[in-house]
Amino acid sequence: MKHSPVCSICESSTAECRCNKCQMYYCSKCYEDIHSKGAFQNHSRTSINDKSSEIILCDKHPDEKLKHWCQDCRTLVCSDCLLYEHKGHKSNLINQGSKELEIKVYISITFEIIIFRIL
Ligand SMILES: [Zn+2]
Ligand SMILES: [Zn+2]
Ligand SMILES: [Zn+2]
Ligand SMILES: [Zn+2]
Repeated sequence: MKHSPVCSICESSTAECRCNKCQMYYCSKCYEDIHSKGAFQNHSRTSINDKSSEIILCDKHPDEKLKHWCQDCRTLVCSDCLLYEHKGHKSNLINQGSKELEIKVYISITFEIIIFRIL
């Protein structure tokens, strides 16, 4: 298990992002609080999400990781799905380091953002 950082401000919530300028970890609430005014507004954050390090497995193929994004169906699929159900569909491999992490973090928010990130 990876150790998950705690927010440097409230020291109680699990950190959800890291500010690229402050070089500190924040929960989303503290990040918003700190970065709502002045020069802080120009800071940018990198999402961190411990859950995102969990491998997401395919519903239909429990042995396969969801590591492709089917552009035609706008859904995450595994290699098996790609070979059969999504044969001939346009897809992106998302299994590549931080990009994958970032994509997974956004899965819970909206698929539209995922498409945006991949393209
Ligand atoms: Zn906090
Ligand atoms: Zn900052
Ligand atoms: Zn599958
Ligand atoms: Zn498809």
